Amino acid sequence: MGIGKQAKVDWKELEKKYYMRTFEKVRLPVVLVRGKGAYVWDEDGKQYLDFVAGWAVNCLGHAHPVVVKAIGAQAKKLIHTSNQFYTIPQLQLAELLVKNSCLQRVFFANSGLEANEGAVKLARRYGKLKRNGAYEVITATGSFHGRSLAMTAATGQESFHKPYLPLPEGFINVKFNDIEALKKVTTEKTAAVMLELIEAESGVNVHDLEYIKAVRRWCDEKGILLILDEIQTGIGRLGTLFGYQSFGIEPDIMTLAKGLAGGVPIGAVLAKEHCAVFAPGDHGSTFGGNPLACAAGYATLDYIIRHDIPGNAKKTGQYLRDRLLELKGKYHFITEVRGMGLLLAVEFNAELGERVTLDCLRAGLLVNRVKPNAIRLIPPLIIGKKEVDEAIGILDGVFSGINRS
Ligand SMILES: *Cc1c(COP(=O)(O)O)cnc(C)c1O
Repeated sequence: MGIGKQAKVDWKELEKKYYMRTFEKVRLPVVLVRGKGAYVWDEDGKQYLDFVAGWAVNCLGHAHPVVVKAIGAQAKKLIHTSNQFYTIPQLQLAELLVKNSCLQRVFFANSGLEANEGAVKLARRYGKLKRNGAYEVITATGSFHGRSLAMTAATGQESFHKPYLPLPEGFINVKFNDIEALKKVTTEKTAAVMLELIEAESGVNVHDLEYIKAVRRWCDEKGILLILDEIQTGIGRLGTLFGYQSFGIEPDIMTLAKGLAGGVPIGAVLAKEHCAVFAPGDHGSTFGGNPLACAAGYATLDYIIRHDIPGNAKKTGQYLRDRLLELKGKYHFITEVRGMGLLLAVEFNAELGERVTLDCLRAGLLVNRVKPNAIRLIPPLIIGKKEVDEAIGILDGVFSGINRS
């Protein structure tokens, strides 16, 4: 890199010219070309500590040898065949998920939104077969469930709805963390409640334990399905393999994606036997459950379980939280540190999110501006004290710069 006479390509210009403008607000002015563990490097060779991890995807960090090996070995054998045939990695990963969760059946998709679509379709089949045609799904304000039209409707944020009206019907957004509001909109048309345990994309808003337990009781009482969107909270992020284990309840349906295959695109719908009601032909996917993604998923999940990566996320998350709280004591403009495990946010008393993100970037730390007044920290789950101390050192420097200005 940097050697040779060719003119350097201006990738940012190319993006401006050829790519849709969808990421203009979130893209940071840096071209990343490689990663190793919790670090990434840009095209000029500058190193960054990665506390974004591909939006909570790279749970084992970058270029983890176990994931790299699994992808390479599977690519040499069989990348794709379609679901017209049995393939081994798909079934190995399904078995591993079932044996380590409270759910009994799996369907693989290619992304988070696709997994959620599958979950909602499953709830609608359930409603048709077992609840007199009930089809409505109740979701929470501030939630994020993906960007298809249906998942845009499920997402409880009006700013996501407006550009795409009219949206598919059958979704009701009720007030976050408010059991009475949820009870009030429940009718005989309700098929399911769909929630994130922690609303990650809208700012790491943690549902109260008591609320989640009350929702579970309410669903049981009414015969409604509880779908947990664990796309971000699953796979160890909260300090347990699945988030529901940290909240002490069990979902009827759970969706996974992000961290499941260590960086390779994948999504999964898991369901309890009583509501795994898809009949032959009801649902499908060309790429979903393909051998490459599932081999990466199996290697990732197997490693996570065998090395107690959730335990590390819990311990390191607590340490990171404690150190962030020290910074909160030091800088008056930090108003809150919240989250669980390694899904944390730092909120400010003003719109400092962008400035902090850019200052951190300059200083060699990647963070996510999750709201105008907050940053989100979602590092790889393999980090330890050393990486936390390094990140805190950089944040301290950035905050003291803000304090002085
Ligand atoms: C990221 C995310 C999604 C959407 O996943 P995609 O793979 O981007 O479609 C849905 N729900 C939650 C909770 C997420 O964090």
